[in-house]
Amino acid sequence: MLDITVSPAAARRAASARGRVALVTGGAMGIGAAIARRLAEDGFTVVVADLNVQAAEATAREAGEYGHEVVAMALDVGSPSSIEALVERIGARFDRCDVLVNNAGIAKTYPFESYPLDHWRTVMEVNVTGPMLLAQRAAQHMIKRRWGRVVNIASVSGIRASAGRTAYGTSKSAVIGLTRQMAIELADHGITANAIAPGPIETPMVASLHSDVARENYLRAVPLGRYGTPDEIAGAVAFLASEDASYVTGQTLAVDGGFMAAGVLEI
Ligand code: NAD
Repeated sequence: MLDITVSPAAARRAASARGRVALVTGGAMGIGAAIARRLAEDGFTVVVADLNVQAAEATAREAGEYGHEVVAMALDVGSPSSIEALVERIGARFDRCDVLVNNAGIAKTYPFESYPLDHWRTVMEVNVTGPMLLAQRAAQHMIKRRWGRVVNIASVSGIRASAGRTAYGTSKSAVIGLTRQMAIELADHGITANAIAPGPIETPMVASLHSDVARENYLRAVPLGRYGTPDEIAGAVAFLASEDASYVTGQTLAVDGGFMAAGVLEI
């Protein structure tokens, strides 16, 4: 007789996650918070790393309700010394880091002709250099156990250009390239690396970035006719972090309501 309270698939997921540590950057809010909650629900021990430590602590408390350890830690992805300190702290506390979700990211929009150099540099540091350094350092732990998962949160803006995204779009294209690079360089160690390219998702970032006009344009361009939810991104991360995705590496999965597939939508 099957125990219908825990499906075999859920039991398999929990067995695979048990004892494994997942680090989620930018885990305090928005998409990162949904990912932290979902990985905790699936049975991972989760580190919620964020600039905003207070919000990270609140998310960790909430995600901890699934019964697995969830801790908040301070991180500025734009600072190599902060990355170093975080990885040291995780090493000292858990002596492992099995899943890295490079989720923290920032967006600043300006017209191409006047895109400010300082913003370009900041966006590149936070969105590209930080994830690369974190993966380098987390991979040291994964290599020791011959198992690891890196999931990078890119964007549809890294595949198709959208207005004002000189630095953001270019940084997300770089994240997609970096994902392929990591995939081939880390494959021998049992580590997979994949990216997710979200379409428009209702989060604090989008609340400040998308004007009413941008929102209308997105709703017209997304075949499913709505913004996505952070949980819909978290579901894709959970798959890529699981044993079910053991033969998937170097890929970018658009979770975008059909935005990437779309051409002319009305005749
Ligand atoms: P958000 O701004 O709502 O939340 C981002 C989180 O990252 C916050 O908790 C913030 O404190 C943290 N953070 C920001 N800078 C940081 C830094 N330097 N170090 C550590 N933490 C930092 O963003 P979101 O919408 O949830 O986006 C998450 C990721 O998804 C980003 O990489 C973003 O580019 C990507 N994305 C979002 C959308 C969308 O529509 N929301 C679409 C495509 C891609």
